[in-house]
Amino acid sequence: MEFREIYCSNCKKVLGRYNTKFFDDDKIDELVNTLYSTHVRSGHRINIRKFEKN
Ligand SMILES: [Zn+2]
Repeated sequence: MEFREIYCSNCKKVLGRYNTKFFDDDKIDELVNTLYSTHVRSGHRINIRKFEKN
């Protein structure tokens, strides 16, 4: 299965992992702007990485 990992480089932690089967790129963007907006507003750099897991 393929996942998107939302990582904050300022906090140096993974904020969440989402299965791409249920969350497409638009949905992920939406999540970043809603759930993780505090990081974005603080000027943190959010990276969205792809990873696979079986
Ligand atoms: Zn952060």
